[in-house]
Amino acid sequence: MGNSRELISKFKLAKFTAIYEVGDEGIYLPEYKGSTLRGAFGQSFKQIGCDCAGAKHNDGCVYSYVFETKPIMNFQVINKSKDIPRPFVFETIYDPRTYFSPGERIYFSFTLYGKAIDYLPYFVVSLQEMGRYGLGKHRRRLYLRQIFQVNVNGDFENLVYDGTKYKIYSDWNYLLGAEIVDHFNFDLNQDNVLIHFISPTRIKSKGNYINTAPSFEELIKAIIRRFSSIIFFHQDLSLQMDYSEFFKSASSVKLEEYKTNWLDWERYSNRQKDRIKLGGIVGKALYAGEVTEFIDWLAIAEWIHVGKNPVFGLGKIKVVQKLN
Ligand SMILES: [Zn+2]
Repeated sequence: MGNSRELISKFKLAKFTAIYEVGDEGIYLPEYKGSTLRGAFGQSFKQIGCDCAGAKHNDGCVYSYVFETKPIMNFQVINKSKDIPRPFVFETIYDPRTYFSPGERIYFSFTLYGKAIDYLPYFVVSLQEMGRYGLGKHRRRLYLRQIFQVNVNGDFENLVYDGTKYKIYSDWNYLLGAEIVDHFNFDLNQDNVLIHFISPTRIKSKGNYINTAPSFEELIKAIIRRFSSIIFFHQDLSLQMDYSEFFKSASSVKLEEYKTNWLDWERYSNRQKDRIKLGGIVGKALYAGEVTEFIDWLAIAEWIHVGKNPVFGLGKIKVVQKLN
């Protein structure tokens, strides 16, 4: 069994929704907004969170912790993945419009993990300044009106930031994995689980992206990879479990039916000065078999996303059941 149950319980996270008002000139944003937001946010955060004078970031640089977390040598012993997860994800509602009128509200959510929760004020100020600098085509402005905490039910709970008063409130608390697992409404008498891939999900298997529904084993592997690296890098905890036994058990759960398609979207990379295609699967997949021991992991996966590029909002899933 290892320490997986204990680590899931101790996992710290906090989700927020930022509400912006579109400025007087309206704003142009691409069809898929996650990457533009993430790019503009990174620039803003660097202005605010990095005061390093040299070519390299200082040890205490908040920007470099959030955006360029350094590899730790022995990590690969427990996890073959070379990717270091950022301690946050963005989540945008899919709205294909590319122009928003003055006064319209634009919502998006972000979730912080582990130590990054302490840096919430940096996120707030960076989000506010991102709007003030302007973003998208012609760098049009957005005004950060409010930030709310999102509770375990997905509802707005506490006001965390009031943009009319420039005030950050401290009357909120982070969530623990234990609450997420307890809150997850699942009938353990059912022997199936239905996964909705809400935003393009990019899961790799044997070096390639899976372009239809992943097998249950591939899905569980992707979740464990992501969780173990988040909690290792951002909460200094190391997941120990019998992986081979667990994955063997996952392989007995079968992909029963699915309806997925590959959705391509492009983002412009400032670093590579080029457009990059970042596709993934969307749709749903029904898995049948002995799923009970995986339910806690699936509950957590809704909050951490699965697969590659989650900072742009990719890999968001919703877990439900098909009632017999
Ligand atoms: Zn720095």
